[in-house]
Amino acid sequence: MQEQSDIGVIGIAVMGENLILNMESKGFHVTAYNRTVDKVERFVNGRAKGKNIYGATSIEDLIRSLKRPRKVMLMVKAGKPVDDFIELLIPHLEPGDIIIDGGNSHFPDTERRVAYVESKGLLYVGTGVSGGEEGALLGPSIMPGGSRAAWPAVKPIFQAIAAKVADGTPCCDWVGDGGAGHFVKMVHNGIEYGDMQLINETYHIMKAVLGMTADEMHEVFKEWNEGELDSYLIEITRDILAFKDEDGLPLVDKILDTAGQKGTGKWTGTVALELGVPLTLIAESVFSRCLSALKDERVAASKMLDGPVPSFDGERRTFIDNLRDALYAAKVISYAQGYQMMAAAAHEYGWELNYGSIALMWREGCIIRSAFLGKIKEAFDKNPDLRNLILDDFFREKIQAAQSGWRKVIAVAVTNGIPVPCLSAGLIYYDGYRCDRLPANLLQAQRDYFGAHTYERLDKPRGEFFHTNWTGRG
Ligand code: NAP
Repeated sequence: MQEQSDIGVIGIAVMGENLILNMESKGFHVTAYNRTVDKVERFVNGRAKGKNIYGATSIEDLIRSLKRPRKVMLMVKAGKPVDDFIELLIPHLEPGDIIIDGGNSHFPDTERRVAYVESKGLLYVGTGVSGGEEGALLGPSIMPGGSRAAWPAVKPIFQAIAAKVADGTPCCDWVGDGGAGHFVKMVHNGIEYGDMQLINETYHIMKAVLGMTADEMHEVFKEWNEGELDSYLIEITRDILAFKDEDGLPLVDKILDTAGQKGTGKWTGTVALELGVPLTLIAESVFSRCLSALKDERVAASKMLDGPVPSFDGERRTFIDNLRDALYAAKVISYAQGYQMMAAAAHEYGWELNYGSIALMWREGCIIRSAFLGKIKEAFDKNPDLRNLILDDFFREKIQAAQSGWRKVIAVAVTNGIPVPCLSAGLIYYDGYRCDRLPANLLQAQRDYFGAHTYERLDKPRGEFFHTNWTGRG
């Protein structure tokens, strides 16, 4: 087969297979290739049968099958397999050809690969793809970055296969240079961790303090999903709570309470520390998974360490509304922190990020899709230089309205000994951010005392540094 395919995809696994079928369904001719070639044959004779999908038997065969400029998309395990395929592809490609990595690569790897592939006269795109198996098939959120010159060639395919918002706008646009696409995907995954943990904390309070059954909680999440919390994660939580095991009891109650993680949430926390961004809520969500993994220790400790016995004598309906408000307000903080992290990275790496367009890319197709993201887009459309999402009028007023319920929820949780790391991290950030005088004056004095680190004074111009001999000793 000679130069007939619009794109080649390497990696016939969950994501690759479904993306290929999605591309083909939008009218593109696709070549499929995989390290283990048997899988190509199985695919073309199975799900791909009768479709405009060509199964390549070698890298040479793959390259021969592609129209120019050639576009080869890697959907393989992140890490070394990506570097290995880049090395295999380079000798067969010509200037202007494009290598795309659609896996969950860490953005510094993408930065490095963009520079390397460009040094060979080729173009490189590192793109976040979110939405899992179903998203890949029916319309994922796609966050591409890298060699900008590749965008015009890649855009028609990516925007055709991406999820669409109600007016038909695709959830895919150019993010920025270098590793910007994978950076934004990483923040997306961190936000996903935060959103999930926030939901879990409201569930924990409903269960442990209010003593609600899974069916009762199902009704609450159903109601929440019909309001401003309308989102994929609230929707699946609603459905999970209603799901019964074979014996008719809620399956969720039988699931071991130790959470797994693949690492992208951890990256978000680590990079936040490196950039000096207070991404507290997402970091707490990662630590919550770590704590959950200590199951045996927790079971042993539960027999040794005392705490209050949960009880509630307030007005339940009002408190459930407080929980909804707390969840909403803390979610605003999580996104505010995520956006501050993207702004810090844009500054550090010289990316020009369009924050409204990023919200739109997450609006549909991905795990964090929600009505709420439409409001974030509006906020950044109104003011592209918005310093912090919580300073936008809409969100400022929302937090103002939710604040008293949010504080009550934290108070009830703390009084009853229920851990709410993310709901409270959000409130603590809010109170810290709106505090014009934090106790860091004392901190600076301590640092100067033991380490002569110097300090600035409120009554002197910024940038003038002072040191005091605090002990009077020579
Ligand atoms: P995966 O299980 O992450 O990877 C399987 C693919 O990688 C197979 O094609 C496999 O080839 C290839 N591979 C593994 N090790 C290799 C090596 N050493 N050299 C060459 N090829 C190698 O597949 P996936 O779940 O479809 O994910 C693909 C990418 O998308 C990953 O980066 C993943 O993190 C990302 N992603 C996944 C999801 C999801 O929901 N699964 C969502 C978003 C993003 P063989 O068949 O020869 O082993």
